[in-house]
Amino acid sequence: RTSRRTLATPLSRPSLSSPSLTAVRNLGILAHVDAGKTTVTERILFATGAVHKRGEVHEGTTVTDFDTQERDRGITIFAAAVSCSWDGHRINLIDTPGHVDFADEVERSLRVLDGAVAVFDAVAGVEPQSESVWRQADRYGVPRIAFVNKLDRAGADLDTAVASLRERLGAVPLVAQLPIGHEDGFTGVVDLVRMRALLWPADSTGYEKGAIPDGLRGEAERRRRLLEETAAELHPAALEEFCATGALTDDSLALALREVTLDGTGTVVLCGSAYRNRGVEPLLDAVVAYLPSPADMPAVRGSSAGGGEQERAPDPAQPVAALAFKVAVTATGRLTYLRVYSGTLRKGDTVLDAGTGRTERVARILRVQADRHTELDEAPAGDIVAVVGPKTARAGTTLCAPHAPLLLEPPGTAEPVVSVA
Ligand code: GDP
Repeated sequence: RTSRRTLATPLSRPSLSSPSLTAVRNLGILAHVDAGKTTVTERILFATGAVHKRGEVHEGTTVTDFDTQERDRGITIFAAAVSCSWDGHRINLIDTPGHVDFADEVERSLRVLDGAVAVFDAVAGVEPQSESVWRQADRYGVPRIAFVNKLDRAGADLDTAVASLRERLGAVPLVAQLPIGHEDGFTGVVDLVRMRALLWPADSTGYEKGAIPDGLRGEAERRRRLLEETAAELHPAALEEFCATGALTDDSLALALREVTLDGTGTVVLCGSAYRNRGVEPLLDAVVAYLPSPADMPAVRGSSAGGGEQERAPDPAQPVAALAFKVAVTATGRLTYLRVYSGTLRKGDTVLDAGTGRTERVARILRVQADRHTELDEAPAGDIVAVVGPKTARAGTTLCAPHAPLLLEPPGTAEPVVSVA
């Protein structure tokens, strides 16, 4: 994938796509091992109501690390996709391995997601592995938000972590929050876009919105100004408004942050402490506000039966083309996790494995949630689901409409190259 946009869009952009497609976020959490990816994922599932009991990493009860080997080794090995909802949006969380040994798996998961949250440790800042995952995400043009986690730790410092984002990753940070209190006394954040305080009172699972504490008002205003200036530097329409009026409205600022996130020129930075359950809800709000939906994605390219390159738009009315990115053998059966790129996959469909020329039957389509599966009749372009039925599909296999073959990924060395009939 290259840059998704060439022209700066105006700051009031009407959405033209179908609402169902725009209300989906295919999201990955990228992180160095130990930065807190599992904890962030767990808190997201908790905040969205997908699970009701918070899992703790040390208890081995987290939802995404369901593999025993993973649990034993304390690292995430196999990608899993879990769906949850937030603010009227469906978030499909695609687990990406954080360990450098699984680079192929990281790359494949980067391919199927549309946007990511990169988690950093507020004490360590950018670490070598976060650097390599960041570069891979750059290569795939994945828009990202940075979440500086562990602000409760001794030695945590948002500004130092932000400096390392700038220096080590060449990122242009747009710091959208100001922490309230530090280390053990970290109690909330100032949301610099809406200029309000978000506070997590002790012993509460939710947060309260309120006025910016008096002592922080000057600093919040200074930082808001900096955020507006950086957004204006990066986005022509924002610059125009900034020059004309001397400031950006909250809505224009939010739109500018979305645009620069989508074109990859800037990175919105949020912060919190996943472990203390602080900062995850605003992070979800930012995922919905700034990261792309499948409708924002360019058409996918593949090779057609004749060998020529072909494009397919993320349009439910086109012939089906889906990429398998994970196969898991579970109690429910052999689950093939798919990203549907075009068309609508229906229960009972016969699909073609474009790499081998074999046909497979889609017996069931499942939405995988934290603790259960929901049966679906169909999955439209942009969706991520698991299917039961395909017997030989593996990660990297394209499943497509038999009458319109399209190979999305060249078969790997493990899979013999068989031309598409
Ligand atoms: P992963 O390897 O990136 O999946 O990281 P984990 O979520 O397993 O977290 C690694 C360790 O950091 C665990 O012991 C967590 O309890 C701890 N941790 C995660 N988030 C935070 C946080 O916000 N604050 C503190 N102090 N510890 C955290």
